[in-house]
Amino acid sequence: MFLSMPSISIIRLIKRKVKMLLLKPTLACNMKCSYCYEKEWRMKNHPDLDYDLPVLIESVKNSLDNRIVIHGGEPLLIPKDDLEAMLSTIHRKTGKTGIQTNGTLIDEDHLRLFMQYNTSVGLSIDGDGDLNAYRSGIDETARLLDLMKEMRARHINVGVIIVISQANANDNDKLERLKGFVTRLTSMRIHGRINPCLLNSGCSLTTDRLSGVYSDLTRWMILNGIRGWSPFHEMWEHTVYNNPLSCVFKECDVEYTPSARVLLKDGTETNCMRVSAKGIKDRDPSKQGVRSKQLTSLPQDQGGCMGCQYWERCYGGCPAESEDGKRTEFCDGIKAIYKILDNTRQFTSSGNRPNQPPPNERGRQSMI
Ligand code: SF4
Ligand code: SF4
Repeated sequence: MFLSMPSISIIRLIKRKVKMLLLKPTLACNMKCSYCYEKEWRMKNHPDLDYDLPVLIESVKNSLDNRIVIHGGEPLLIPKDDLEAMLSTIHRKTGKTGIQTNGTLIDEDHLRLFMQYNTSVGLSIDGDGDLNAYRSGIDETARLLDLMKEMRARHINVGVIIVISQANANDNDKLERLKGFVTRLTSMRIHGRINPCLLNSGCSLTTDRLSGVYSDLTRWMILNGIRGWSPFHEMWEHTVYNNPLSCVFKECDVEYTPSARVLLKDGTETNCMRVSAKGIKDRDPSKQGVRSKQLTSLPQDQGGCMGCQYWERCYGGCPAESEDGKRTEFCDGIKAIYKILDNTRQFTSSGNRPNQPPPNERGRQSMI
């Protein structure tokens, strides 16, 4: 008997149910990126490599999550044998693996493991040369780009997180260079996320500049057919197919992050580290939906989302992007992108054409 291919709508339904488990054997890191959201926590707590491997492996085996990513800190600080034990367990369970790394420690042995265990490698890089200045120097950045080329030559899936900051977008010259960088990555079949730098990091753009940059990037991607980059891609999916792909456009709360579950080094389960950056909090499922109720009953000029036309495609954004638990600081940028996407959708839809009567009217005329 042949099983028929699942329809697009079923695939989308399955995607909606994707839950992610982030396995964090260590929160230690070998870098000191200026805007890191775990930096404050790390400075206070001095994380080590003293993780409980059997407990983590057992947790992975028992997990119901369909996406399991090894995360950190910097996960490649752990010995290669332990890394292989985690990768092989995840691979047996899901047929694929994922890791988010700064890339500085990747060597030939790691590349072999990534090929063996079908690993999607997420790297963090904000552009080439000085565009990446908040993360590393020019030589290290060039080495990372060579490594990305090598990984693609070996058919390893590579994704990137680019953080928009003063270093890569505070003037139009830098923004054009950043677009060139994104174009080059796209031609190598490397895609990823273009995230805003948190406002309290000291590295961020002003909210006005940030909205302008995101509007510019949205138009540029549409005009040039650049696909596969979030948040643009996922906001388009949300707009056209009502298919929320990313946690930042689903309900999320500082007390409970339903889309992302973290396993710490001793097997303790906690929330996404983006909300735990200042102090790790227990997960509290009873808080699900509480933030949404508060935001929808708070007027927008008081930091809420009351009456916002984009609510069901935003839910107030990521709760970590707000100092006071209200809506995301990037509200203006989100509105700017959705406005362009809505207009684009309207333009490309098969609705009425200008200077023509509506379809029903045309149909009636042809019958006369
Ligand atoms: S805190 Fe933000 S990044 Fe983390 S799961 Fe929630 S929306 Fe996603
Ligand atoms: S766009 Fe702004 S006001 Fe609207 S739901 Fe999102 S955060 Fe709230």
